[in-house]
Amino acid sequence: MPDTTTDWRQLEARYLMTTAKRLPLMVVHGQGTRLWDEDGKEYLDFFSGPSTVSLGHCHPVLVKALSEQAKKLIHVTGTIPSMPQMKLAQLLVENSCLDRVFFCNSGAEANEGAIKLARKWGKERRDGAYEIICALNAFHGRTLAAVTATGTEKYKAPFTPLPEGFVHVPFNDVEAIERATTDKTVAVMLEPVQGEGGVNVPDDDYLRRVRRWCDEQGILLILDEVQTGIGRLGTLFGYQLYGVEPDIMTLAKGMGSGVPIGALLAKEHCSVFTPGDHGSTFGGNPLMTHAAYAVCKYIIDNDLPAQAAERGRYLERKLRGLEDRFSFVTEVRGKGLLQAIEFDQEIAEEVALACLAEGLIANNVRPTSLRLCPPLTVSEEEIDRAAAIVERALAKYG
Ligand SMILES: *Cc1c(COP(=O)(O)O)cnc(C)c1O
Repeated sequence: MPDTTTDWRQLEARYLMTTAKRLPLMVVHGQGTRLWDEDGKEYLDFFSGPSTVSLGHCHPVLVKALSEQAKKLIHVTGTIPSMPQMKLAQLLVENSCLDRVFFCNSGAEANEGAIKLARKWGKERRDGAYEIICALNAFHGRTLAAVTATGTEKYKAPFTPLPEGFVHVPFNDVEAIERATTDKTVAVMLEPVQGEGGVNVPDDDYLRRVRRWCDEQGILLILDEVQTGIGRLGTLFGYQLYGVEPDIMTLAKGMGSGVPIGALLAKEHCSVFTPGDHGSTFGGNPLMTHAAYAVCKYIIDNDLPAQAAERGRYLERKLRGLEDRFSFVTEVRGKGLLQAIEFDQEIAEEVALACLAEGLIANNVRPTSLRLCPPLTVSEEEIDRAAAIVERALAKYG
């Protein structure tokens, strides 16, 4: 008998793998910062994908690009050239410090590419060095190598044996990187600001000092800008905020405002892939690259990074008001539109659910921290409303 239920809770329980704890709502429609559920209830989306729906939901520029390209050409694989891919690569190179691009479909896949590129470079240029130094509380994705780079015990423990060649040191500790560097080290891999690890902002000079160390040692600096890239921190790329240039950078989340796309970028000196080394069937397909081109071009032409910086300061001021009002709010931290509030108790999940009930989607990125990462296009008025909802949610704790 075919199953004819349309109750999504039943369908979910019956057919989906339970890989994530999902929010108790069924969304059906989105516009800008807003989402609507099946009952027509409106939500402000301060999670945005996370940090993915950079232009807000269903931005007309993205919708137009998708529908135009869908009528022209949707897919050819990487071995057949198509113009949208070339144009997006040119746009990314002309607006960054990197020289060459490889397109893929997600952040984890971009990081896999970065790890492979660094290892090949190590074989050819650094006497077979292969080890990558990563930070504790990092997040690099869920594939086997990316989850090993991520390092979080609970993400990787069920999946051993894991690939070799990753060591972990505390974030924001240059001396720890220096101590961990050996003849085998090929690269240091970091997020400019740790996103999934809890919105952890390093000291202003951390990345500059890491860069200097990498230069002295002749090893590569890989920046995972999957979350921080494309305007999130108030600059087009996070590295610009800290005055460094990576050798390799990965992008994904915000670059397509919701369409699945990732990119691996490298400087010429370490672009060592040759034909046959790497590939992706869907990576760089005309539909996704045309869409991402429209998104990135709009972000650059309208200087949305500067707007994100300004709105980020506004959001931060609002959140600091909560810090002053509630003694159990111990910290507000972040850059641009990637912000978090820290509590002295593990109440973030409860607070997130209380916010949801009031029409705000914000995420408990850690048991003690609530993350707010709205679209780059968020308005001050929407920030006011979101902050008022968080305030009401917190009021019941004191
Ligand atoms: C989300 C994220 C990833 C993983 O991206 P997926 O598209 O989920 O594979 C990797 N690195 C960082 C910094 C991220 O925030």
